[in-house]
Amino acid sequence: AKSLGGNCCQTFEPSFQEKMQLRMTIERHLRKAIELNELSLHYQPQIDTLNGRIVGFECLVRWDNSELGRVSPATFIPVAEETGLIYDIGEWALREGCLQNKRWQDEGIIHVPVAVNLSPSQFYDQKLKERIESVLAETGLDPAYLVLEITEGMTMHVQGSIAALKDLKALGVSIAIDDFGIGYSSLSYLKEFPIDKLKIDQSFVRGMKDHPINTAIVHAVQSMASCLGLDVIAEGVETEEQVEMLTELGCRTMQGYLFSFPIVAAQVPELSRNYANV
Ligand code: C2E
Ligand code: CA
Ligand code: CA
Ligand code: CA
Repeated sequence: AKSLGGNCCQTFEPSFQEKMQLRMTIERHLRKAIELNELSLHYQPQIDTLNGRIVGFECLVRWDNSELGRVSPATFIPVAEETGLIYDIGEWALREGCLQNKRWQDEGIIHVPVAVNLSPSQFYDQKLKERIESVLAETGLDPAYLVLEITEGMTMHVQGSIAALKDLKALGVSIAIDDFGIGYSSLSYLKEFPIDKLKIDQSFVRGMKDHPINTAIVHAVQSMASCLGLDVIAEGVETEEQVEMLTELGCRTMQGYLFSFPIVAAQVPELSRNYANV
């Protein structure tokens, strides 16, 4: 029975038990997601706004389950992390992204890198390098056309992460720092780490209009990156006004709904034609 006179908002929030139930339901279905073919990748283009060309795609996993419907990666990736399912799901996404990119290249559809997201457990996995190496060998994708997206937090506090990154880079792949700016990176971090790109988190892009501090942060990131020879990608670009502000700040590579939602592979040929990439 519900107790009266308690917290008025209690009834609107799922209880701890309900959250645990949902988490277990997700886990139960997620265990079978790969074999049941429920996972797919969507691809979101990254645009060089100076010449209007597509310069890359980010691979974003999608999960459609018969009982749960489409579940957001923001919901199931954390569950996959906690349960260890992320190793298989992450490797599936890596293989699928590499395979698809190789296909696009072979078919003359588009010749740009794809970026795959790595979770913390994947990054800490001793076998990561081997796994990537074998996926590259299996799919025949040139490593120069694979970007690994990791977050700041994953590398910050870990002894040996510089060595781990150098090890990965020795494969010939590139490293991008995802959601850059919301962690705790310092200039010295950027100088020490063997990385190639910074992805400016969408919260800064969104906040530029109303809070000048966001513009200042984007500006600072952009100038640091230029000094260090790093590429910058602004994420979550939704308006022309944001394009103008970012351009003013010297940022030319952008990703966001203004250009395209994440799309299925079958839509990529037409998108590439529209962006005059072929
Ligand atoms: P993320 O890596 O920061 O990915 C960007 C997210 O922003 C994606 O959400 C994308 O659909 C969304 N987005 C892109 N453009 C815009 C825009 O203009 N406006 C707004 N509001 N959003 C935009 P999505 O696909 O739901 O992915 C959420 C998160 O799930 C990703 O954040 C990433 O952390 C994780 N994720 C997705 N796929 C994978 C994967 O294969 N492996 C791992 N480990 N994580 C993944
Ligand atoms: Ca990402
Ligand atoms: Ca991001
Ligand atoms: Ca994010």
